Amino acid sequence: MSDSFRRHATAQGDTCPDIELSIVIPVYNNAGTLEELIARVSAACNDVDGASEIILVDDGSRDDSWPIVAGSESPHVRALRLSRNFGQQAALKAGFAEATGRYVIMMDADLEDDPAMIPVIHRELRGPVDICYTAYPDKNKRNARRTSRLFHRAVASIAKADHTPNIATMRGFSRKVLDAILRYRERRPVYGPLMVGMGFPSTTIEVEMPDRKGINSNYNLAKRVRLAMDYLVGYTNLPAVFFMVASGISFLATTAYSASIIIQYLIMGNQLPPGISLLMVVILLLFSMLFFGIGIVGLYLHRLLDESLDRPLYLIAERKQSTACAPVDIQ
Ligand code: UDP
Repeated sequence: MSDSFRRHATAQGDTCPDIELSIVIPVYNNAGTLEELIARVSAACNDVDGASEIILVDDGSRDDSWPIVAGSESPHVRALRLSRNFGQQAALKAGFAEATGRYVIMMDADLEDDPAMIPVIHRELRGPVDICYTAYPDKNKRNARRTSRLFHRAVASIAKADHTPNIATMRGFSRKVLDAILRYRERRPVYGPLMVGMGFPSTTIEVEMPDRKGINSNYNLAKRVRLAMDYLVGYTNLPAVFFMVASGISFLATTAYSASIIIQYLIMGNQLPPGISLLMVVILLLFSMLFFGIGIVGLYLHRLLDESLDRPLYLIAERKQSTACAPVDIQ
């Protein structure tokens, strides 16, 4: 068993059973679904062969999420409250670092992922695979409602990062994968493409897409664009390649156009087109590309600076231990 595996002991000193399954759930303004979520996930834990823990990570919610989590009486629940909103991926990482199970399942807090799938994913993980993804059936009518899912898929397919069609957030993996994930020290991990790129044997099971009526996304456009930039800059060199290709095409087009004007002037005796307007078009085109390119280089530089400062990805403000077992580090 890995060195990050920890045993559990009760306050009285009795050893609790080793944790078989850790379920990691980032929480951001999910007060509306939390009670039902905890009840359904706890019920699913009872169907798991072995002891389970539910690690809820409150990512600086501004609603009543934390009081609900902290007041939960489910013996499975352990919780962290981050000092502010650090984003879903950071909250996931905080939960992963806490997980003590042989297997881990990550899922969303808004009941979009069906807790009943927990024992099913767990059974898959006990087979020959290290990762079990979930995916929705490919029905366009249903997908049309899921704009955020489409957004993720569009970005992922541009970045060639996530090949499974209609992949859902909920997935499970072994401790081997968890330990590998924790070794990625980057400040802005995006776990979807990161996990796919690891190369561990995986399987995908189909899950029903829930009705999203009444479920609001916690991502606004700015957050989604930031996540998209993290995908593109962190996992591909696509922005730089795009700029190089575009400047190559612009160079060829400008050269061809200039050559045609010179040929018309020298051979056919045509007048040169009015200089200023033509010049303005060419200069504006080239300058906009230049600024765009500088912006892209700036993004990469900012990313380098960000990584080199090595600031903590998240800060923990408060903890709630499980009422059943308090984790202790075994030296
Ligand atoms: N989330 C988070 N921090 C954020 C935004 C979201 O921890 O800044 C969590 C949220 O509580 C949920 C998951 O990430 O458990 C997915 O968020 P959401 O359902 O809003 O995203 P969508 O499913 O719309 O992509």
